[in-house]
Amino acid sequence: MKLQEIKNINISGKKVFIRCDFNVPMDEYSNITDDRRIRSALNTIRYCIDHDCAIILASHFGRPKEVYEEKYSLKPIAKRLHTLLKQDILMAKNVVEEDTLEQAKHLKSGEILLLENLRFHKGETKNDEEFAKKLASMADIYINDAFGVSHRAHASVEGITKYFDKESKAAGFLLAKEIQFFHHIIENPKRPFVAIIGGSKVSGKLEVLNNLVSKVDKILIGGGMAFTFLKALGNNVGNSLVEDDLIPEALRIMNKAKELGVKFYLPVDVVAAEAFDKEAFAKPTTIQEIPKNWMGLDIGPATTLLFAQALEDAHTILWNGPMGVYEMDKFAKGSTKISHAVAASYATTVVGGGDTADLVRITGDEDEMTFISTGGGASLELIEGKILPGVKALVLDGE
Ligand code: AMP
Repeated sequence: MKLQEIKNINISGKKVFIRCDFNVPMDEYSNITDDRRIRSALNTIRYCIDHDCAIILASHFGRPKEVYEEKYSLKPIAKRLHTLLKQDILMAKNVVEEDTLEQAKHLKSGEILLLENLRFHKGETKNDEEFAKKLASMADIYINDAFGVSHRAHASVEGITKYFDKESKAAGFLLAKEIQFFHHIIENPKRPFVAIIGGSKVSGKLEVLNNLVSKVDKILIGGGMAFTFLKALGNNVGNSLVEDDLIPEALRIMNKAKELGVKFYLPVDVVAAEAFDKEAFAKPTTIQEIPKNWMGLDIGPATTLLFAQALEDAHTILWNGPMGVYEMDKFAKGSTKISHAVAASYATTVVGGGDTADLVRITGDEDEMTFISTGGGASLELIEGKILPGVKALVLDGE
């Protein structure tokens, strides 16, 4: 797959529309609490500034009810962009009303216009043609740098691409990096390739497991999803999270792993608790001895050692999903230790998914990872082997 990239098209002096992902966390006073997503868009924005472009920036933020709501305005983003880029940012009053279209029309080289939250308009999530056409009418060039929403067929991600030819649309630096990294790691990994999959349910990652089982050398399963597999093997898992309807599927995946010679690791012990509560009485116990009515909320110390050992010879590690309820201190130890083990390995390490990315920041291992994906759902779909709708339009013909 060959992506059209910004560096390979001529943008000099042109008007460029950049779809960014400025969906950053904010507190109740609209203070940005983590501006990583804004900072990671700067490469592409600066590249356009250096090429004398007039720049239109667009993003969604939160889930407004398709009308203007002050708390979802992108004004705080404009302020932060101003601080980071040290230049004025023109803030549009809306997304595609006449005054904004006029503003875009008269935008000069080197100027930056930030549109209001795309989701103030109902056309965005509905991939409305008229809306996409209006967005497209603002610029000569379309750049997608919003990996986190590229798995959505939304107007600013998918619909808009129809109005630009192959030489006038491309992936920004962030999107290109994300896509190429995942593509490379899934299709051409250095082996042994180990996947660590956790999180709450099997159902959310069924396609991921199905695709990975034929690509990796080992799979380590943690988190809530492990209990469906453990129950499928006849274990008594108390009140732990189990999706009974997926037991046949769990067995099928384990059989496929066996057929392919893929080592399939499940927890051998857990931290079990009387209730799903941070104050609940909890203790480590082997899988065979989870007390009736108790639930496993983290992998146990023996599993942590086992998983760390299984990671020792890895050359590539893909990690998606926490090993336990890491939001509660009592059940965060397994995820923390696995994070340290991944960080300490000499493998190429890729962390995907919002929770896991969050986790490695909390554990302080962020800088030790080779690559942390910014998009949760989008990275899962890539691991499933899908081509994202927002990326499809940027793939060069015949490749
Ligand atoms: P996901 O979005 O599927 O990656 O799931 C992440 C969530 O899984 C986190 O919020 C964890 O609290 C939750 N989780 C991890 N382990 C368990 C478990 N053993 N039981 C219930 N929830 C869990």
